[in-house]
Amino acid sequence: MATENVKKKGALDWYFKSNLLTRILLGLILGAIVGVVLGFFPEAVKPYVASVKFFGDIFIRLLKMIVVPVILFSLITGAASIAPSRLGRVGVKVMVYYLLTSAFAVTIGLVFANIFRPGLGFNIVGDAAIKGKEAAAPTISNILLNIVPTNPVDALSKGDVLPIIFFAVVFGLGISYVKDSKNAKIAKGADTLFDVCNAAAETMYKIVGGIMQYAPIGVFVLISIVFAQQGPKAIGPLLVVTLTVYLGLIVHLVGIYGGLLAVNKLGFVKFLKGANEAMITAFVTRSSGGTLPITLRVTEENLGVPRTISSFSLPLGATINMDGTAIYLGVCAMFIGFATGNPLTFNQQLTVVITATLASIGTAGVPGAGAIMLLMVLESIGLKVTEGSAIAAAYAMILGIDALLDMGRTSLNVTGDMAGTVIVAKSEKELDTSKWAKA
Ligand code: ASP
Repeated sequence: MATENVKKKGALDWYFKSNLLTRILLGLILGAIVGVVLGFFPEAVKPYVASVKFFGDIFIRLLKMIVVPVILFSLITGAASIAPSRLGRVGVKVMVYYLLTSAFAVTIGLVFANIFRPGLGFNIVGDAAIKGKEAAAPTISNILLNIVPTNPVDALSKGDVLPIIFFAVVFGLGISYVKDSKNAKIAKGADTLFDVCNAAAETMYKIVGGIMQYAPIGVFVLISIVFAQQGPKAIGPLLVVTLTVYLGLIVHLVGIYGGLLAVNKLGFVKFLKGANEAMITAFVTRSSGGTLPITLRVTEENLGVPRTISSFSLPLGATINMDGTAIYLGVCAMFIGFATGNPLTFNQQLTVVITATLASIGTAGVPGAGAIMLLMVLESIGLKVTEGSAIAAAYAMILGIDALLDMGRTSLNVTGDMAGTVIVAKSEKELDTSKWAKA
């Protein structure tokens, strides 16, 4: 019996004992190779996707499963363990950081699009066969109004992140007040409630750790599907858009985050080492919201941010701070302008800076959400996506490669949340940099 147990352990040793990140990277590289090779055999793509999709979907479902409980419990715990006055100060710092970096991001996207001029000379003409996607662009007041849930349980069941954040913060603050109640019995009850929520948050992180053991397989499958389906199409003129977006992402990563970290005397390379698990997960899942459990864990374990800050700033960031999406919106608006013979004027570009910043705030942290917000940006500069128009055709081209762009922008979205959280924690003198060396 004993020998059998030893044998069983040994059989899985190669998997569980090897470095998780190495396994994830291996999954990423092998998946890309398999996908690209499959792209050369178009008839094989469909049956391949049909047979392996299940294993990728499981990964996404597992991550989605854990998102709402993680946000809820970690945010309640976070809000309950922070004095209301401090929540206000940290909140303002986080918001200012998120807004400024997003506005910078759009500007970077526009600058690179002005240099590389994606789509210039395309001269797309309208084609009745190509239809623009009809989608209602939300108004700003609606975005703000929807933060307050009319029914918290409904928000929880639907997974509406902003209303959940709002409710969890209010609930947590309520606990922190009741903990100080003069009625000893009620105060004790609030303490217990806090302990239960804290233990629930810990439990969720444990589950996340377990889910990550499956990540290498999920990553392999998801990447191979994207490359098999999008790879061959993502050539030609769209290559310029892709390269422009990715260049913008990299410059923002190194220039803005690297710069801000350096100003705060924090090592950029060490930051990347600590953050990369979340960056890669965001890259393959294309969902800031889905990556949140990992983002929360690495920020705490590898980057030494206390939960009082991260549990507030990260769920908020995963919902409203989308620097990658902002860059994407800037570049794609320019592409559509160039491609349809309507290059954006300086004033139009200024408008894009404002609307794309707001649109990125309104973008949900789910795959492809940015493409919907692109409609809002285009509308603000008078480029309406109507059926059969050249603008609809150009927009449809962007949709064709959206998955590829979504991977990079989501990864930057999540990185921006982590960089901001680390910087705010440092400014609050609450960053445990001793964890950085171990990462
Ligand atoms: N997929 C992105 C995210 O989750 C949002 C977007 O589509 O831009 O961060």
